[in-house]
Amino acid sequence: MAQLLHRWQQLWLLALDRQYRLETALQRLRELEEFAHFDFGVWRKRYMQWISQMKSRVLDVFRGIDRDQDGRISQREFIEGVLASKFPTNVLEMNAVATIFDMNGDGFIDYYEFVSALHPNRDPLRRSADADQIQDEVNRQVAQCNCAKRFQVEQISANRYRFGESQQLRMVRILRSTLMVRVGGGWIALDEFLVKNDPCRVKGRTNLKINEKYLSPDAFGTAARCAGNQSAASSKVLSPSRSNSSLSLYSSASAPSSPLARKSVLRRTRSGDRCPRSRGSGLPDGAELQFSAAEESLAAALPEPPEGSPPERCSPCR
Ligand SMILES: [Zn+2]
Repeated sequence: MAQLLHRWQQLWLLALDRQYRLETALQRLRELEEFAHFDFGVWRKRYMQWISQMKSRVLDVFRGIDRDQDGRISQREFIEGVLASKFPTNVLEMNAVATIFDMNGDGFIDYYEFVSALHPNRDPLRRSADADQIQDEVNRQVAQCNCAKRFQVEQISANRYRFGESQQLRMVRILRSTLMVRVGGGWIALDEFLVKNDPCRVKGRTNLKINEKYLSPDAFGTAARCAGNQSAASSKVLSPSRSNSSLSLYSSASAPSSPLARKSVLRRTRSGDRCPRSRGSGLPDGAELQFSAAEESLAAALPEPPEGSPPERCSPCR
C-alpha cells in the first residue's frame, strides 16, 4: 500500500513537471511567433508612447537605467531595466532592441545612442558635435576663473548646465557662434553671465567701470537714459552683441582698446550695476528677470539669422 502511494506521488510530480515544461515551451513558441513579426519601428513607437504616458522624458528613462550615472549602460543593464519596467516586451525583443541601440557595437549604450535610436530622424553626429562644442566653450570660458575656489560648472545634459553655487539649471545654446545662457526671459552671452556671477570677474568689472568713467565722455548720459528705459535692455536680448567674445577678444579684467569693444563693455556694465531701478530682488541677474512676457515671446519668435550675417546693433551703440 505504502509502495503504491509512493509511486502515485511520483507520477503526480512527473505530471506537474511535464505540465510546467509544456507551458514554458508554449510561451516561448508564442514569443517566437510574435518575434517573427518583430518590427523595431513599431517597438520604438510603442516605447515612445509609453514614455510619454508615464509623463517621463527620454533622459529620465535613461537615468533610471543608468544606476551609476556614468552616461552609459551595458546591453544587459538596458535589457533588464526595460524588462523590469511595466513596458510590455520580452527577452527576445529586448535582445534585438539592445543590439540596435548599441550602434557602435561596444556592448554599451551611451546617452547619444539611446536618443538616436529613439529619434532615428535626428542626426546623432550633429547633435553630439553641437554638445561637444558647447561643452568645450563652457569649459574654456569657466577655466578663465581665478578665484581661490574655482567657479563650479556642472553639465546636466547636452544643453543644460549648473553654474556656480546656484542649483538652478540653465539652458545654453550656440547662437551665431556665440555661447548663450538662458537667464530669466532672455539669453545672454556666457561671458557676460560669468562677469555677473563669477566672483573674480565681478571684481574685474569694478575696474572696467573706472576705465569707463575716464574713457567715455557720454557714460553718464547713456547710464541715465538706461535707468528709466527698458528698451535698451530688451534690445540687448534681441540682438546678442559682439561683446560676448566667444573668441575672447579680451578678458574682463583688461581694458578694451577698440571703440566697439568699449561700447560693448559699456552696454554690459549698464545692464548691471548702473541700472539700479532695473534690478529685481538683488539677485545677480535680477535685471533680466524683469523682462515682460511680451518681450520674451518676441525674443522667442525672432528667427535666428543665417550664419555670417552682419551682427545687429542696438540703438544706443550707433
Ligand atoms: Zn572666479
